[in-house]
Amino acid sequence: MPDDGFEGFDPAEPAGGIEPPPPPHAANIATAESAKKERIGRLLSIIPPVMAKLYFRYSAMNAGKSTALIQVAHNYEENGRKVALFTSAIDRRHGQGIITSRIGPQRASMTFDESFDFLTAMSAMHDISCVLVDEAQFLTPAQVRQLHRGAHQLDIPVICYGIRSDFLGEPFPGSAYLLTLADSIEELKNICSCGRKATMNPRFAGSERLFAGDQVAIEGPVEYKPMCARCFYEGQR
Ligand SMILES: [Zn+2]
Repeated sequence: MPDDGFEGFDPAEPAGGIEPPPPPHAANIATAESAKKERIGRLLSIIPPVMAKLYFRYSAMNAGKSTALIQVAHNYEENGRKVALFTSAIDRRHGQGIITSRIGPQRASMTFDESFDFLTAMSAMHDISCVLVDEAQFLTPAQVRQLHRGAHQLDIPVICYGIRSDFLGEPFPGSAYLLTLADSIEELKNICSCGRKATMNPRFAGSERLFAGDQVAIEGPVEYKPMCARCFYEGQR
């Protein structure tokens, strides 16, 4: 069961082994209440608070990352909590600043480019319970560091969604840093057309597979297919 950063919510999780208060005889209800408060206070002082973490949820293309992100945002908001959504300014497939799930739902989002400072932005956030970042492979290493610091120093959970490798199987720098610094790493699974687990993201123009080009190519006639490593190498010249 993926944990959605919710663990940062309540350091006062019910702890086992608490001695129950004495029965509330009419005469000493107030005493029992204050004893209970004192006991809970003592307990909280010895339980280290659960700290926020940096999460990286990665997959091959089209595994439902944006859908998962929108669902997590919804879960927070359903519980009366606010979230901050970010997506890359590079990705304008569905318009700038829109996180789009392939199965329908969309969310307006803030955007980041390579000059955006997440730590400054997070420092100015009030009442934000979670930062959610889509297209996290486009983060710079410095931005991953900012998000890591933000989670640990500002105590705001950060959940990043992205792919690990480009169309040639080379790492995106942002993803390499996420794999290095994230406190929690989870794979969202998708399958290749052959039925094996997809881990690679080859680039195509129509039916032709492309083996040259920039690491980032989103707009235009190219598309990406989730592919297992075996098919990825079989298709290589
Ligand atoms: Zn395959």
